[in-house]
Amino acid sequence: MTVRNSVTPRAAGEVGRYDIETDVLVVGYGAAGACAAYEAALAGARVLVVDRAGGGGGASAMSGGEIYLGGGTPLQVACGFEDTPEEMAAFLKAAMGAGADAAKVDEYCAGSVEHFQWLVDRGVPFKPTMWDAPTWVPPTDDGLMWLGENSWPFTEVAVPAPRGHRPTANDFGGRLLMECLAAAAESAGATTLFDTQVTNLIVAEDGTVAGAVARRYGKELAIRALRGVVLTTGGFVDNDDMLLAHAPELLGHTKVSAGTDDGSGIRMAQALGAAVRHMSSGQVGMSLIPGLAARGMVVNAQGRRFINEDTYPGRIGQSALYRQNMGGSWAGNDSAVWVIVDEEGFEDVPEPQRWGVRPTHVAETPAELEELTGLPAGSLAETIGRYNEFAARGADPDHRKAARWLRPLTPPLAAIDVKAGVRPPAESGDRRGTGASVFTLGGLHTDLDSRVLDLDGNPIPGLYAAGRAANGLHGFGYISGTSLGDATFFGRRAGTAAARTY
Ligand SMILES: Cc1cc2nc3c(=O)[nH]c(=O)nc-3n(C[C@H](O)[C@H](O)[C@H](O)COP(=O)(O)OP(=O)(O)OC[C@H]3O[C@@H](n4cnc5c(N)ncnc54)[C@H](O)[C@@H]3O)c2cc1C
Repeated sequence: MTVRNSVTPRAAGEVGRYDIETDVLVVGYGAAGACAAYEAALAGARVLVVDRAGGGGGASAMSGGEIYLGGGTPLQVACGFEDTPEEMAAFLKAAMGAGADAAKVDEYCAGSVEHFQWLVDRGVPFKPTMWDAPTWVPPTDDGLMWLGENSWPFTEVAVPAPRGHRPTANDFGGRLLMECLAAAAESAGATTLFDTQVTNLIVAEDGTVAGAVARRYGKELAIRALRGVVLTTGGFVDNDDMLLAHAPELLGHTKVSAGTDDGSGIRMAQALGAAVRHMSSGQVGMSLIPGLAARGMVVNAQGRRFINEDTYPGRIGQSALYRQNMGGSWAGNDSAVWVIVDEEGFEDVPEPQRWGVRPTHVAETPAELEELTGLPAGSLAETIGRYNEFAARGADPDHRKAARWLRPLTPPLAAIDVKAGVRPPAESGDRRGTGASVFTLGGLHTDLDSRVLDLDGNPIPGLYAAGRAANGLHGFGYISGTSLGDATFFGRRAGTAAARTY
């Protein structure tokens, strides 16, 4: 008897009777799935979107709604910024890190103005005003924000332009974005089926993906997809076995997901011979308030600065996790990252932007703060002394923080342990953890049409993927907005391509 694993594809010949027939089956109704469904339906295909949850949304609906767009969008122009697809691509190739997919980045940037307009035409509102300070999510409904473009090293790579585009919502805009995308998909004719978890792909004798097997209320359903199956099931941060195998540094931290990122789509395609890329890379949100970090210092377990604090805060997190994780202490009991700020810096960040974060330790001198925090004796005194010297000169040769954020720190001084966590206004409960919140960036290897590629780089007929189930734009780096950005952009590509297949 053949022993099968849980995701072994089913042979179409074995299936017998199909319960449902459609042209394009979209698996997962987050941003990527909704965009794929819209384009496939618009192209005239019958489209069924299934989701294992009781409704659509996934992580997309929980998100900040920031979408990375540029190249001269009307919003950028209205806020007084010039941008080109080439500058945007230069930034992204650097920011997406080693192994970023240059062809995808170029395509994404060349199509960005059109994609912005497409979102607007689908009803996503963007207010033409600018939020001008480091933050995770602005407390206002401003439509445009910086995402590290005006910080070192990116200032040396591309002409800075803000490219964080936000739907008009105070704080988190993901729900509004998702409502617009779902309404678009459904008005284009896509149908939905919830509480339906796809477990295996169905494959014809010639290797073409012909549908999928799903479970609904304990019953197995066979779904035939005449033109293609689009996997938009999200990443794998909720699957600890996969994290252990591919991205062990991401284990043990707060998971940034809707709880359904178990890698099921990735595994189903892998079982069919799909290639994956950059499975070890992840977004690392650090539990700090970017406005406080920019006005102060971020130090490691040795009491030393390690990055320009005004940069995109996810870079601080990646640097802390991957490069400051001395002896694994980051995820253990010894907090490895502290934000050091003085009273003026703390008060300078209005309360709504502090998300309830308070100093965990306060002292009159650096020596006293070292004692309270357990940082090595003399370390903070030296780091603060050096920082204050740079600040007085208005230049930071160590880490190149912009002059705008340099100011000598004066006692009393506060230390904020990142393990105390931050809690966005819309969330409740304790956020104490390791100080890091993560999701995965690796996934299925796809081409510019979102076709899933096999180990030789050939498309697997009938199989498409987008969003975090695919690798998208990312190498080892991340910038907010690139996840919803590539999910929506390449989700659309997947829908168009799947509808074309006969
Ligand atoms: C709090 C928070 C804030 C964020 N802020 C931002 C931001 O501002 N900008 C940004 O770019 N990114 C942000 N992100 C990340 C971003 O939201 C996600 O990476 C992105 O939404 C992924 O989109 P997706 O379509 O691939 O997956 P999802 O939106 O997660 O959708 C996947 C769907 O697939 C379903 N599914 C999974 N497996 C199966 C299966 N086997 N069968 C059927 N259905 C299945 C799930 O139920 C889910 O509904 C944030 C995330 C969170 C949680």
